[in-house]
Amino acid sequence: MAFEHFDVLIMGAGLSGIDAAYHLQKLCPKKTYVILEQRQRIGGTWDLFRYPGVRSDSDMFTMGYSFRPWTNTKAMAPGEDIRAYVTDTARNEGIDRHIRFSHRVLRAAWSSRDAAWTVHAVHQTPDGRDVPVILTCNFLFSCAGYYRYQAGYTPEFPDLNRFTGRVVHPHAWPEDLDFSDKRVIVIGSGATAVTLLPAMARTARHVTMLQRSPTYIISMPEQDAIANRLFRILPATWAYRLSRWKNIGFMIYVYQLAQRFPNFTKNGLIKKAQEQLGPGYDVATHFTPRYNPWEQRLCLVPNGDLFKAIKAGRASVATGLIERFTEKGIRLQSGEELEADIVVTATGLVLQAFGGAGLEVDGRRVDLGNTLAYKGVMVSNVPNLASVFGYTNASWTLKADLICAYVCRLLNVMDRKGARQVTPRNRDEQPVAPFVQKFTPGYIQRSLASWPKQGAKFPWRVYQNYLRDLISLKWSPVHNHALEFSNPAEVTLKPAPDGSRRQLA
Ligand SMILES: Cc1cc2nc3c(=O)[nH]c(=O)nc-3n(C[C@H](O)[C@H](O)[C@H](O)COP(=O)(O)OP(=O)(O)OC[C@H]3O[C@@H](n4cnc5c(N)ncnc54)[C@H](O)[C@@H]3O)c2cc1C
Repeated sequence: MAFEHFDVLIMGAGLSGIDAAYHLQKLCPKKTYVILEQRQRIGGTWDLFRYPGVRSDSDMFTMGYSFRPWTNTKAMAPGEDIRAYVTDTARNEGIDRHIRFSHRVLRAAWSSRDAAWTVHAVHQTPDGRDVPVILTCNFLFSCAGYYRYQAGYTPEFPDLNRFTGRVVHPHAWPEDLDFSDKRVIVIGSGATAVTLLPAMARTARHVTMLQRSPTYIISMPEQDAIANRLFRILPATWAYRLSRWKNIGFMIYVYQLAQRFPNFTKNGLIKKAQEQLGPGYDVATHFTPRYNPWEQRLCLVPNGDLFKAIKAGRASVATGLIERFTEKGIRLQSGEELEADIVVTATGLVLQAFGGAGLEVDGRRVDLGNTLAYKGVMVSNVPNLASVFGYTNASWTLKADLICAYVCRLLNVMDRKGARQVTPRNRDEQPVAPFVQKFTPGYIQRSLASWPKQGAKFPWRVYQNYLRDLISLKWSPVHNHALEFSNPAEVTLKPAPDGSRRQLA
């Protein structure tokens, strides 16, 4: 049976999926492609998360696409502005016509005989039915993000069901949630909790951020004064390019400083927090993490909004372990009791590779935990497959842009060589580290065993460094000893007894 066929099938219409489609249209204009998106809208993360204050915590000059200037004056932007930027890009470039919404990829099976993937998806129709859909493609490009969309992570909290107030997870924010004049506890200390605290404190009676242990938090101006000046005097493309490079340079500088001089950086960050909160505030308990800067993502707060809310008494931080929930709130192991009308569990995500789709190569299930990542893009011994995983220490899009352009170069090299298959072959490299290294948030650590590993040397290393990736993905030749270009084995066609043509392998 013949199925609808595309040269490239992209999974996901988030920031990366639109990036991938843009690059394909520009660099491989003859390739046919389709995007399968499980949701009903473009935007991925920036469409899913609707909690109060949702925003970027990296600057939009590096989180925007290399090919489309971010012209909004806010460098740290609200979620809805990012969603509009991604959606407008898709519309302006005619990418939206290629998206099939409500299509969830369940599994993909590679056949070396056909040099093609058979992709099994399910289409949720407007009347709620799940209709199976099968497509084939030569190259599968996963832009499905890095976490499970269906639900976030919530630890087992003892006696949660005794609590008489409302419990919500930022992953599924209820549109009707009215928190004005309510007492709110936000459990967590990551970017989401740090965003929620000042946003909810504007109308809530009081917001408490309840954390097991502190995170590094630093205030940044919401607007980038230098970038805004550049936009006033230069054409937008130039102003954007310069602002992007300025911020890439700054990010690399801060990250390297933290790696080489962790104590110096740590003391600097803690001192800044103390200055914002005043001399009497217990920064040692609430704002002094147990790890070194950048072992977890640094949380940026625009114009110090979190510190201001705490200083004004509208919000506070409690640091301690939860013993159990009570009817009225939460009891800590220290004996302290916190009362609340609403508890927000900003406790993280569940990591998921390839959008949870199962992969098979010639009838064999791919166990990703036993593979090596090739340049952080492909997977050892799996042909014609790539995926986007951005930086943990810088803007996601910087790497997404590099990966999308790299995949197009790879497709063009395959065409020039007349090869229908390309497979990273690991001959002697041993796994030495997880896919993400020196990065310790719980939600990352919980799931890394089932992700591809990285080796000790190029091209089996996964860099968290834009300059190294420029060399690896943009400036190095596509062809190297680890990539095998090939074609399906020759087949002989012989008539079947019923007269039809039958293939013999
Ligand atoms: C709350 C939050 C804040 C963040 N803030 C920042 C930030 O400030 N800076 C930064 O650089 N990064 C940030 N990130 C990381 C963020 O995920 C990236 O910035 C970026 O949005 C990732 O884009 P993506 O398209 O790769 O993935 P996603 O945005 O996750 O999009 C993936 C898309 O694939 C679809 N999909 C998934 N599985 C399937 C399937 N099986 N079949 C079909 N479709 C599927 C999803 O529905 C979704 O539309 C943040 C993440 C979160 C959760």
